[in-house]
Amino acid sequence: MEYRRLGKSGLQVSALSFGSWVTFGNQVDDTIARECMVAAYDAGVNFFDNAEGYAGGKSETVMGAILKKLGWRRSTFLVSSKVFWGGDKPNEVGLSRKHVIEACHAALKRLQVDYLDLYFCHRPDPDTPIEETVRAMHTLVEQGKVLYWGTSEWSAGQIREAHAVAREWRLTPPTMEQPQYNLLCRDRVEREYASLYTDFGLGTTIWSPLASGLLTGKYNNGIPSDSRVNTPGMGWLKEMFQQAQSDGRLDKVRALVPIAADLGVSLPALGVAWCLKNPRVSTVILGASRVSQLKENLRALEVVPKLTDEIMARIDAAVA
Ligand code: NDP
Repeated sequence: MEYRRLGKSGLQVSALSFGSWVTFGNQVDDTIARECMVAAYDAGVNFFDNAEGYAGGKSETVMGAILKKLGWRRSTFLVSSKVFWGGDKPNEVGLSRKHVIEACHAALKRLQVDYLDLYFCHRPDPDTPIEETVRAMHTLVEQGKVLYWGTSEWSAGQIREAHAVAREWRLTPPTMEQPQYNLLCRDRVEREYASLYTDFGLGTTIWSPLASGLLTGKYNNGIPSDSRVNTPGMGWLKEMFQQAQSDGRLDKVRALVPIAADLGVSLPALGVAWCLKNPRVSTVILGASRVSQLKENLRALEVVPKLTDEIMARIDAAVA
Protein backbone atom coordinates (compact mmCIF):
# COMPACT_ATOMS: atom_id res chain seq x y z
CA MET A 1 0.00 0.00 0.00
CA GLU A 2 1.07 3.55 -0.64
CA TYR A 3 0.35 6.23 1.99
CA ARG A 4 -0.22 9.89 1.19
CA ARG A 5 -0.47 12.96 3.40
CA LEU A 6 -3.98 14.27 3.75
CA GLY A 7 -3.31 17.59 2.03
CA LYS A 8 -0.77 19.58 4.01
CA SER A 9 -1.68 17.87 7.30
CA GLY A 10 0.66 15.38 8.94
CA LEU A 11 -1.90 12.57 8.67
CA GLN A 12 -0.92 9.56 6.55
CA VAL A 13 -3.86 8.05 4.71
CA SER A 14 -3.73 4.95 2.54
CA ALA A 15 -3.98 5.86 -1.15
CA LEU A 16 -6.88 3.39 -1.37
CA SER A 17 -9.52 3.47 1.34
CA PHE A 18 -12.89 1.79 1.82
CA GLY A 19 -16.41 3.18 2.20
CA SER A 20 -19.79 1.75 3.18
CA TRP A 21 -22.35 3.78 1.23
CA VAL A 22 -25.26 1.65 -0.15
CA THR A 23 -23.62 -1.53 1.09
CA PHE A 24 -23.34 -1.72 4.93
CA GLY A 25 -26.65 -2.16 6.75
CA ASN A 26 -28.40 -2.34 3.39
CA GLN A 27 -27.21 -4.15 0.25
CA VAL A 28 -24.81 -6.61 1.93
CA ASP A 29 -25.03 -8.70 5.09
CA ASP A 30 -22.75 -8.12 8.06
CA THR A 31 -20.49 -11.07 7.18
CA ILE A 32 -19.64 -9.62 3.78
CA ALA A 33 -19.15 -6.20 5.39
CA ARG A 34 -16.65 -7.71 7.84
CA GLU A 35 -14.84 -9.72 5.15
CA CYS A 36 -14.44 -6.59 3.03
CA MET A 37 -13.05 -4.61 5.96
CA VAL A 38 -10.59 -7.38 6.80
CA ALA A 39 -9.46 -7.71 3.17
CA ALA A 40 -8.98 -3.95 2.98
CA TYR A 41 -7.08 -3.70 6.27
CA ASP A 42 -4.89 -6.69 5.39
CA ALA A 43 -3.98 -4.91 2.14
CA GLY A 44 -2.86 -1.84 4.11
CA VAL A 45 -6.05 0.25 3.89
CA ASN A 46 -6.16 2.48 6.97
CA PHE A 47 -9.22 4.67 6.29
CA PHE A 48 -12.85 3.56 6.55
CA ASP A 49 -15.46 6.06 5.43
CA ASN A 50 -18.97 6.41 6.81
CA ALA A 51 -21.78 8.92 7.37
CA GLU A 52 -24.79 9.42 9.60
CA GLY A 53 -26.93 9.32 6.46
CA TYR A 54 -25.79 5.88 5.27
CA ALA A 55 -28.65 3.39 5.78
CA GLY A 56 -30.14 5.79 8.33
CA GLY A 57 -27.23 5.26 10.75
CA LYS A 58 -27.16 1.45 10.37
CA SER A 59 -23.99 1.61 8.31
CA GLU A 60 -22.15 3.15 11.27
CA THR A 61 -23.65 0.62 13.67
CA VAL A 62 -22.45 -2.27 11.48
CA MET A 63 -18.97 -0.76 11.07
CA GLY A 64 -18.72 -0.01 14.80
CA ALA A 65 -19.59 -3.60 15.73
CA ILE A 66 -17.01 -4.92 13.27
CA LEU A 67 -14.30 -2.59 14.57
CA LYS A 68 -15.07 -3.67 18.12
CA LYS A 69 -15.03 -7.36 17.26
CA LEU A 70 -11.81 -7.16 15.22
CA GLY A 71 -10.07 -5.18 17.97
CA TRP A 72 -7.57 -3.42 15.69
CA ARG A 73 -5.26 -1.01 17.51
CA ARG A 74 -6.93 2.39 17.37
CA SER A 75 -3.74 3.99 16.08
CA THR A 76 -3.77 1.75 12.98
CA PHE A 77 -7.00 2.96 11.40
CA LEU A 78 -8.92 6.13 10.62
CA VAL A 79 -12.69 6.25 10.71
CA SER A 80 -14.92 9.04 9.49
CA SER A 81 -18.47 10.22 9.72
CA LYS A 82 -20.36 12.94 7.86
CA VAL A 83 -23.06 15.23 9.12
CA PHE A 84 -26.05 16.53 7.19
CA TRP A 85 -28.81 13.95 6.75
CA GLY A 86 -29.61 12.70 10.26
CA GLY A 87 -33.40 12.41 10.27
CA ASP A 88 -36.63 14.04 9.19
CA LYS A 89 -37.12 16.64 11.97
CA PRO A 90 -35.97 20.24 11.37
CA ASN A 91 -32.87 20.04 13.57
CA GLU A 92 -31.83 16.60 12.33
CA VAL A 93 -30.59 17.93 9.00
CA GLY A 94 -28.05 20.51 7.93
CA LEU A 95 -25.04 22.11 9.56
CA SER A 96 -26.40 24.09 12.52
CA ARG A 97 -24.27 24.01 15.66
CA LYS A 98 -26.94 21.82 17.27
CA HIS A 99 -26.95 19.21 14.53
CA VAL A 100 -23.17 19.18 13.94
CA ILE A 101 -22.55 18.47 17.65
CA GLU A 102 -25.43 16.04 18.18
CA ALA A 103 -24.62 14.09 14.99
CA CYS A 104 -21.01 13.73 16.14
CA HIS A 105 -22.10 12.34 19.51
CA ALA A 106 -24.49 9.89 17.81
CA ALA A 107 -21.79 8.75 15.34
CA LEU A 108 -19.30 8.16 18.17
CA LYS A 109 -21.85 5.92 19.89
CA ARG A 110 -22.75 3.97 16.76
CA LEU A 111 -19.11 3.54 15.70
CA GLN A 112 -18.10 2.73 19.31
CA VAL A 113 -15.03 4.99 19.20
CA ASP A 114 -13.89 7.89 21.41
CA TYR A 115 -13.12 10.22 18.51
CA LEU A 116 -13.64 10.54 14.76
CA ASP A 117 -10.42 10.87 12.78
CA LEU A 118 -12.22 12.69 9.99
CA TYR A 119 -15.57 14.46 10.18
CA PHE A 120 -17.16 15.93 7.05
CA CYS A 121 -19.96 18.38 6.34
CA HIS A 122 -21.74 16.11 3.87
CA ARG A 123 -23.05 19.03 1.77
CA PRO A 124 -23.12 22.84 2.09
CA ASP A 125 -26.08 24.17 4.08
CA PRO A 126 -27.50 27.37 2.60
CA ASP A 127 -29.61 27.92 5.75
CA THR A 128 -26.69 28.05 8.21
CA PRO A 129 -23.96 30.72 8.24
CA ILE A 130 -20.60 29.13 7.45
CA GLU A 131 -19.20 30.81 10.59
CA GLU A 132 -21.64 28.83 12.79
CA THR A 133 -20.51 25.54 11.24
CA VAL A 134 -16.80 26.39 11.46
CA ARG A 135 -17.25 27.31 15.15
CA ALA A 136 -19.08 24.02 15.85
CA MET A 137 -16.35 22.01 14.14
CA HIS A 138 -13.70 23.96 16.07
CA THR A 139 -15.47 23.08 19.35
CA LEU A 140 -15.41 19.36 18.49
CA VAL A 141 -11.73 19.54 17.56
CA GLU A 142 -10.91 21.38 20.83
CA GLN A 143 -12.84 18.71 22.76
CA GLY A 144 -10.82 15.94 21.08
CA LYS A 145 -13.94 14.37 19.56
CA VAL A 146 -12.79 15.12 16.00
CA LEU A 147 -9.20 15.19 14.76
CA TYR A 148 -9.63 16.69 11.28
CA TRP A 149 -12.75 18.24 9.80
CA GLY A 150 -13.65 18.80 6.18
CA THR A 151 -16.35 19.34 3.62
CA SER A 152 -18.01 17.31 0.90
CA GLU A 153 -19.19 18.81 -2.37
CA TRP A 154 -18.70 22.39 -1.23
CA SER A 155 -17.89 24.92 -3.92
CA ALA A 156 -14.40 26.42 -3.99
CA GLY A 157 -15.97 29.70 -2.84
CA GLN A 158 -17.58 28.07 0.20
CA ILE A 159 -14.30 26.38 1.18
CA ARG A 160 -12.52 29.73 0.82
CA GLU A 161 -15.12 31.35 3.08
CA ALA A 162 -14.61 28.66 5.74
CA HIS A 163 -10.87 29.38 5.67
CA ALA A 164 -11.44 33.12 5.87
CA VAL A 165 -13.72 32.72 8.93
CA ALA A 166 -11.23 30.39 10.60
CA ARG A 167 -8.37 32.79 9.97
CA GLU A 168 -10.32 35.80 11.25
CA TRP A 169 -11.44 34.13 14.49
CA ARG A 170 -8.47 31.82 15.00
CA LEU A 171 -10.56 28.69 14.55
CA THR A 172 -9.58 25.32 13.05
CA PRO A 173 -9.93 25.44 9.24
CA PRO A 174 -11.11 22.48 7.13
CA THR A 175 -8.32 20.08 6.16
CA MET A 176 -9.97 18.09 3.38
CA GLU A 177 -12.83 17.91 0.91
CA GLN A 178 -14.68 14.78 -0.26
CA PRO A 179 -15.63 15.34 -3.91
CA GLN A 180 -16.76 12.95 -6.60
CA TYR A 181 -13.89 12.27 -8.98
CA ASN A 182 -13.67 9.75 -11.78
CA LEU A 183 -13.15 9.49 -15.53
CA LEU A 184 -16.67 10.81 -16.11
CA CYS A 185 -16.59 13.61 -13.52
CA ARG A 186 -13.41 15.69 -13.46
CA ASP A 187 -14.13 19.38 -13.50
CA ARG A 188 -14.37 20.23 -9.80
CA VAL A 189 -11.21 18.39 -8.69
CA GLU A 190 -9.12 19.38 -11.70
CA ARG A 191 -10.29 22.96 -12.33
CA GLU A 192 -12.60 24.45 -9.70
CA TYR A 193 -10.39 23.47 -6.75
CA ALA A 194 -7.04 24.10 -8.51
CA SER A 195 -6.07 27.14 -6.43
CA LEU A 196 -7.18 25.54 -3.13
CA TYR A 197 -4.37 22.97 -3.23
CA THR A 198 -1.71 25.68 -3.35
CA ASP A 199 -3.46 28.28 -1.18
CA PHE A 200 -4.63 25.98 1.65
CA GLY A 201 -2.98 22.59 1.06
CA LEU A 202 -6.43 21.03 0.62
CA GLY A 203 -6.57 17.24 0.91
CA THR A 204 -9.09 15.17 -1.09
CA THR A 205 -10.78 11.89 -0.19
CA ILE A 206 -12.52 11.14 -3.46
CA TRP A 207 -15.81 9.27 -3.85
CA SER A 208 -17.34 7.02 -6.52
CA PRO A 209 -14.06 6.44 -8.40
CA LEU A 210 -15.97 4.06 -10.69
CA ALA A 211 -19.04 6.31 -11.04
CA SER A 212 -21.04 3.92 -8.85
CA GLY A 213 -20.01 0.99 -11.06
CA LEU A 214 -20.62 2.52 -14.50
CA LEU A 215 -16.85 2.55 -15.17
CA THR A 216 -16.53 -1.18 -14.52
CA GLY A 217 -18.08 -1.83 -17.94
CA LYS A 218 -20.74 -4.09 -16.47
CA TYR A 219 -23.53 -1.74 -17.59
CA ASN A 220 -22.37 -1.69 -21.22
CA ASN A 221 -25.08 -4.18 -22.20
CA GLY A 222 -27.87 -3.32 -19.77
CA ILE A 223 -28.36 -3.41 -16.01
CA PRO A 224 -27.31 -6.68 -14.32
CA SER A 225 -29.71 -8.08 -11.71
CA ASP A 226 -27.14 -8.02 -8.88
CA SER A 227 -26.39 -4.30 -9.30
CA ARG A 228 -26.70 -1.78 -6.44
CA VAL A 229 -29.35 0.04 -8.47
CA ASN A 230 -31.79 -2.75 -7.62
CA THR A 231 -31.35 -2.09 -3.87
CA PRO A 232 -34.46 -0.44 -2.37
CA GLY A 233 -34.19 3.34 -2.46
CA MET A 234 -31.72 3.39 -5.35
CA GLY A 235 -34.25 3.95 -8.14
CA TRP A 236 -32.76 7.41 -8.79
CA LEU A 237 -29.41 5.80 -9.63
CA LYS A 238 -31.12 3.33 -11.97
CA GLU A 239 -32.61 6.28 -13.85
CA MET A 240 -29.19 7.92 -14.04
CA PHE A 241 -27.68 4.72 -15.45
CA GLN A 242 -30.48 4.41 -18.00
CA GLN A 243 -29.69 7.98 -19.05
CA ALA A 244 -26.03 7.03 -19.46
CA GLN A 245 -27.08 4.89 -22.46
CA SER A 246 -28.28 7.96 -24.34
CA ASP A 247 -26.07 10.80 -23.04
CA GLY A 248 -22.81 9.31 -24.33
CA ARG A 249 -21.31 8.19 -21.02
CA LEU A 250 -21.54 4.49 -21.87
CA ASP A 251 -19.87 5.18 -25.23
CA LYS A 252 -16.95 6.62 -23.27
CA VAL A 253 -16.79 3.54 -21.05
CA ARG A 254 -16.81 1.33 -24.16
CA ALA A 255 -13.96 3.39 -25.62
CA LEU A 256 -11.86 2.61 -22.53
CA VAL A 257 -12.20 -1.17 -22.98
CA PRO A 258 -9.42 -1.58 -25.61
CA ILE A 259 -7.03 0.56 -23.53
CA ALA A 260 -7.46 -1.72 -20.52
CA ALA A 261 -7.08 -4.76 -22.80
CA ASP A 262 -3.83 -3.42 -24.30
CA LEU A 263 -2.44 -2.93 -20.77
CA GLY A 264 -3.64 -6.37 -19.71
CA VAL A 265 -5.59 -4.94 -16.76
CA SER A 266 -9.25 -4.93 -15.81
CA LEU A 267 -11.41 -1.90 -16.54
CA PRO A 268 -12.22 -1.28 -12.83
CA ALA A 269 -8.51 -1.38 -11.93
CA LEU A 270 -7.77 1.06 -14.77
CA GLY A 271 -10.48 3.47 -13.58
CA VAL A 272 -9.21 3.48 -10.00
CA ALA A 273 -5.56 3.75 -11.10
CA TRP A 274 -6.43 6.79 -13.22
CA CYS A 275 -7.76 8.52 -10.07
CA LEU A 276 -4.63 7.58 -8.13
CA LYS A 277 -2.43 9.08 -10.83
CA ASN A 278 -3.61 12.58 -9.85
CA PRO A 279 -1.26 13.79 -7.07
CA ARG A 280 -4.02 16.08 -5.72
CA VAL A 281 -5.92 12.97 -4.67
CA SER A 282 -5.05 12.04 -1.08
CA THR A 283 -7.10 8.84 -1.09
CA VAL A 284 -9.50 7.03 -3.41
CA ILE A 285 -12.45 5.62 -1.46
CA LEU A 286 -13.38 2.23 -2.90
CA GLY A 287 -16.86 0.73 -2.67
CA ALA A 288 -17.58 -2.98 -3.04
CA SER A 289 -20.49 -5.33 -2.51
CA ARG A 290 -18.23 -8.40 -2.47
CA VAL A 291 -14.64 -9.16 -1.54
CA SER A 292 -13.71 -10.15 -5.10
CA GLN A 293 -14.55 -6.61 -6.35
CA LEU A 294 -12.47 -5.06 -3.61
CA LYS A 295 -9.48 -7.30 -4.37
CA GLU A 296 -9.73 -6.50 -8.08
CA ASN A 297 -9.81 -2.76 -7.37
CA LEU A 298 -6.90 -2.89 -4.92
CA ARG A 299 -4.80 -4.05 -7.87
CA ALA A 300 -5.06 -0.51 -9.20
CA LEU A 301 -1.87 0.26 -7.30
CA GLU A 302 -0.01 -2.04 -9.73
CA VAL A 303 -1.62 -0.33 -12.73
CA VAL A 304 -0.50 3.23 -11.92
CA PRO A 305 3.08 2.75 -13.25
CA LYS A 306 1.58 1.59 -16.56
CA LEU A 307 -0.17 4.93 -17.06
CA THR A 308 2.44 6.57 -19.27
CA ASP A 309 1.86 9.94 -20.93
CA GLU A 310 0.84 8.11 -24.07
CA ILE A 311 -1.75 5.98 -22.25
CA MET A 312 -3.07 9.04 -20.36
CA ALA A 313 -3.52 10.80 -23.71
CA ARG A 314 -5.45 7.81 -25.07
CA ILE A 315 -7.65 7.83 -21.98
CA ASP A 316 -8.28 11.58 -22.32
CA ALA A 317 -9.30 11.08 -25.93
CA ALA A 318 -11.63 8.20 -25.01
CA VAL A 319 -13.56 10.22 -22.43
CA ALA A 320 -13.33 13.64 -24.09
P1 NDP B 1 -17.58 3.17 -6.81
O1 NDP B 1 -17.84 4.22 -7.81
O2 NDP B 1 -16.25 2.50 -6.88
O3 NDP B 1 -18.75 2.09 -6.90
C1 NDP B 1 -18.67 0.94 -6.12
C2 NDP B 1 -19.66 -0.08 -6.64
O4 NDP B 1 -19.36 -0.42 -8.00
C3 NDP B 1 -19.58 -1.38 -5.87
O5 NDP B 1 -20.31 -1.34 -4.67
C4 NDP B 1 -20.12 -2.35 -6.89
O6 NDP B 1 -21.53 -2.20 -6.99
C5 NDP B 1 -19.47 -1.83 -8.17
N1 NDP B 1 -18.11 -2.36 -8.34
C6 NDP B 1 -16.98 -1.91 -7.72
N2 NDP B 1 -15.91 -2.62 -8.14
C7 NDP B 1 -16.36 -3.51 -9.02
C8 NDP B 1 -15.72 -4.51 -9.79
N3 NDP B 1 -14.41 -4.71 -9.71
N4 NDP B 1 -16.47 -5.28 -10.62
C9 NDP B 1 -17.80 -5.07 -10.71
N5 NDP B 1 -18.48 -4.14 -10.00
C10 NDP B 1 -17.76 -3.36 -9.16
O7 NDP B 1 -17.66 3.76 -5.33
P2 NDP B 1 -18.94 4.16 -4.42
O8 NDP B 1 -19.96 4.84 -5.22
O9 NDP B 1 -19.32 2.98 -3.62
O10 NDP B 1 -18.26 5.23 -3.47
C11 NDP B 1 -17.19 4.83 -2.62
C12 NDP B 1 -17.35 5.47 -1.27
O11 NDP B 1 -17.31 6.89 -1.41
C13 NDP B 1 -18.68 5.20 -0.56
O12 NDP B 1 -18.72 3.96 0.09
C14 NDP B 1 -18.71 6.34 0.44
O13 NDP B 1 -17.86 6.05 1.53
C15 NDP B 1 -18.11 7.47 -0.38
N6 NDP B 1 -19.17 8.30 -0.99
C16 NDP B 1 -19.30 9.59 -0.54
C17 NDP B 1 -20.23 10.43 -1.07
C18 NDP B 1 -20.32 11.83 -0.57
O14 NDP B 1 -21.29 12.52 -0.90
N7 NDP B 1 -19.39 12.29 0.21
C19 NDP B 1 -21.19 9.98 -2.11
C20 NDP B 1 -20.96 8.62 -2.53
C21 NDP B 1 -19.99 7.84 -2.00
P3 NDP B 1 -22.57 -3.41 -7.26
O15 NDP B 1 -23.04 -3.86 -5.94
O16 NDP B 1 -23.62 -2.76 -8.07
O17 NDP B 1 -21.83 -4.51 -7.99
